[in-house]
Amino acid sequence: MQYRCPKCQSPKIIPVSQGTNTPRPVVPKSLVILVPAIFILLLFVVISIAMWIFGDGAGQTLQILTVVAFVVCVIAGFFFWRDLPDFKISMQSFMQSQKHWKCRDCDHEWQL
Ligand SMILES: [Zn+2]
Repeated sequence: MQYRCPKCQSPKIIPVSQGTNTPRPVVPKSLVILVPAIFILLLFVVISIAMWIFGDGAGQTLQILTVVAFVVCVIAGFFFWRDLPDFKISMQSFMQSQKHWKCRDCDHEWQL
């Protein structure tokens, strides 16, 4: 299995879609929750820091929300860690099922 462009050896390759019946990798639900949860947590942390700098500290509601977002991140992270082996297998079979590839660096296209 080749994960590099045969022409310029760039690793920046993307599969070219072959219609609607192309198999998609199964994205675990924990990842779907984890990614926005991390963004929300970062947002709360940034707002808290801004309130500490420009005001007289973060409000109690914000502190509770930050803790809740943190707990959600930890739980989702734990479930994602558990789902990771399945996700890897799913991604690998997805990559192997792709026969038509395109290089983003030199626009070279090739079939496996
Ligand atoms: Zn290339």
